[in-house]
Amino acid sequence: MDLQQKIRLMSRLANFEKDSEKDFESCIFNASTPKGKVPILKLMQTTMCDKNCVYCAFRRDREETVRMALKPEDVARGFMELYKVGKVKGLFLSSGIFGNPDFTMERMIDSVRILREKHHFRGYVHLKIMPGASLQAVEEAVKLADRVSINLETSKEERLKGIAKGKSILHDMLPKIEYVDRLIREHRGKSQISQMMVGVGDEKDDEIIRAVDYLNRRFKLSRIYFSAFFPVKGTPLENKPAENPIREHRLYQVDFLIREYRFSYEDLKPILKDGNLPLDTDPKTAWAEANPHLFPVEINTADYETLIRVPGIGKETAKDIIRRRRENRISSPLDLKGIKNLSRILKYVLLNGKSFYQKELSF
Ligand code: SF4
Repeated sequence: MDLQQKIRLMSRLANFEKDSEKDFESCIFNASTPKGKVPILKLMQTTMCDKNCVYCAFRRDREETVRMALKPEDVARGFMELYKVGKVKGLFLSSGIFGNPDFTMERMIDSVRILREKHHFRGYVHLKIMPGASLQAVEEAVKLADRVSINLETSKEERLKGIAKGKSILHDMLPKIEYVDRLIREHRGKSQISQMMVGVGDEKDDEIIRAVDYLNRRFKLSRIYFSAFFPVKGTPLENKPAENPIREHRLYQVDFLIREYRFSYEDLKPILKDGNLPLDTDPKTAWAEANPHLFPVEINTADYETLIRVPGIGKETAKDIIRRRRENRISSPLDLKGIKNLSRILKYVLLNGKSFYQKELSF
């Protein structure tokens, strides 16, 4: 970007900054961070955007959107006022793309730099990387923030082209995720996440799970967020029905199974019906039901990897079971007293060769 262009953008932006009377307190929400759930100030550097993504409330052509912009020093000052009185513990800074991605990122990076250098804030900052930003801007963002996000939005290049013209998974987002991946592996305490929308097109879960499997295997992503589509008035999709939030929940469960329990797309493929996850059963249970030849497992001899695939047994429960059986052979439900989800677990295990599962009577 040359100096002339930058000056033009600055003066266009200044009109919106003057009118920005931001009520920062209304932008506090509880967010999951590497340090647990904490109150976060979620701000947009500017609500102006030169892109026109069909699902977005901030798209260029949407008349209803209130357009404003914050000066970097105002972001830092507004945050610190809330931080000093204990109302927030971290900042999540996003933005519309105003002018060009690097101009926008420069403003966001300046906000965080002021926070770090002038106000000496050492706490949690999450910066969203703008689509199309340069590698230099990405590197600066990673240096200053604890977490960065590059949102894929959807699972396939051609699908993205239909809903967010000018964005590219293959030529922009994936190479950036890879770049950030390399950077954060060199710096302890840094993380990256991504986000996909669900139900904005006619994509199937099959397609999303393949992408989630690929991303989790290839990169160190702390998590992938899913957001069920919700129509926004004044956008081309305003009459499209909202997506069922249970679908979003099932995809979170799948991401967790892949990331934490070493499930793969191939493991989960048999549970898909017409390409989608069942909504009435959680994916781990559906997987167990689709693999009756693997159950029941003998609880006294099954290894850790096998135990954590049993519906109802999580990592802590598996460790607890292994501890108990080292002391005494487990031969009755009494030996598992205090274990969560016991009645569910009993369906899939043998205790010393014997099943204690009692099918509930149904009338
Ligand atoms: S680039 Fe981001 S803010 Fe702009 S329209 Fe697309 S999703 Fe919305």
